[in-house]
Amino acid sequence: MADSEWEAALRSHGHRVTSQRLAILRSISTMKHPTAESIHEALGQAEPSLNLSTVYRNLAVLQEVGLVTHAHIDARAPVYHLAAEPSHIHLSCLACGDVTSVEPETAGAFAERVALDTGFVIQPGHSAVYGYCPNCHPSP
Ligand SMILES: [Zn+2]
Ligand SMILES: [Zn+2]
Repeated sequence: MADSEWEAALRSHGHRVTSQRLAILRSISTMKHPTAESIHEALGQAEPSLNLSTVYRNLAVLQEVGLVTHAHIDARAPVYHLAAEPSHIHLSCLACGDVTSVEPETAGAFAERVALDTGFVIQPGHSAVYGYCPNCHPSP
């Protein structure tokens, strides 16, 4: 997504386009599952006036206008994605904390069955599935 589309989305919701907001969007598009804190660290050099609570406030605005979504992957702070990024399932390793992303279709049959049985519509991109990655798989 180009800066101009980000700017249009902010303006159409009555929000100002600021260099901080654009920098946050750019860092989300290049970093892998950044938290507000890691965005703050990454931007600290270029934007020394940016503090963590400003990052949180800007992230709230960017979510409100629909440019950014968050996901809960483990006990740590939420991580952020561009809303334009295709939704995916997070596999979170309980041992090493590694996160693997898989296509939501992988859970398609499960999600369809749950919807059929309970009427509950799963949003798999919003959270994580826990287990053990190939490196940490406990021996039987
Ligand atoms: Zn993700
Ligand atoms: Zn692991």
